[in-house]
Amino acid sequence: MKLCGIEAGGTKFVCGISDENGKLSEQISFPTTSPEETLKQCQAFILKHQPDALGIASFGPIDLNVNSPHYGYITTTPKPNWAYVNILGSMREVYAGPIGFDTDVNGAALGESLWGKAQDVDSCLYITIGTGIGGGFVSNNQCLHGLVHPEMGHMHVATLSVSDGVCPYHHNCWEGLASGPALEKRWGMKASELSVDHPAWKEEARLIGEALSTLICVLSPERILLGGGVMHQTQLFPMIRLVVKERLNGYIAHPSILTMDEHYITAPGLGDEAGLLGACALGLNAYNQR
Ligand code: ADP
Ligand code: ZN
Repeated sequence: MKLCGIEAGGTKFVCGISDENGKLSEQISFPTTSPEETLKQCQAFILKHQPDALGIASFGPIDLNVNSPHYGYITTTPKPNWAYVNILGSMREVYAGPIGFDTDVNGAALGESLWGKAQDVDSCLYITIGTGIGGGFVSNNQCLHGLVHPEMGHMHVATLSVSDGVCPYHHNCWEGLASGPALEKRWGMKASELSVDHPAWKEEARLIGEALSTLICVLSPERILLGGGVMHQTQLFPMIRLVVKERLNGYIAHPSILTMDEHYITAPGLGDEAGLLGACALGLNAYNQR
């Protein structure tokens, strides 16, 4: 089977072809310029490969309500020229087969469930901590939607240690306090250049651990995968696990939480390909549900 994935990011788009086992055979990447130019490049890729299904995993916010006049659009993004762009409709112009459309993080959670580190469980929470913070949740291969889609990065996170957030909407939401740009504003240097033992990481682990504890209480995920640029700081993983364990304080009496070994909160299995394979996975879901 030939699955085409489009990973639509604010800085770059990646298009690729995978089979139904998540094996990639081809991929191209190009910078996100104007919608006209960028979407034409995606159309050309689809026309060239003639896939059995297409998946689009997009930056947001996006409209996932099939009854909405703006279904398939990127909606209120501050990215210049990209607000209210009909990304799904544009691909429909050249492709009549099954199309799956979802957030980049829901796609990544689905990809990990099908082919990555969440294959052995029924539910998976995928969080990216990079330029922003976003979360996707998949249960029994279904991505979680609601009014729109989850906006986990914009939840309030309890902290007494910092109040210098960068989110233009909420100031001190999780993304405002713990994204890469938040770290860079607070410490006045690139996050990648903060030394491994810098106090920034203890605070970062606390912010991430507090938020994950809330998400565990709400969603009860069987696995949590943390991706994105900031999580290249792998020393964060054991620190985050400790915060979560302490915060939940034995109340959730499940071995995953009580033991908190390295399997419950961990790095994505699909690595740098998590985004693109997530898009391909959305295509496979659309194919199976056609
Ligand atoms: P995006 O979120 O834009 O898709 P990334 O997930 O790569 O992209 O996140 C980029 C952000 O992650 C940068 O703004 C930077 O602050 C941070 N970052 C990138 N690499 C590292 C690193 N090695 N250590 C810590 N932070 C990093
Ligand atoms: Zn916010």
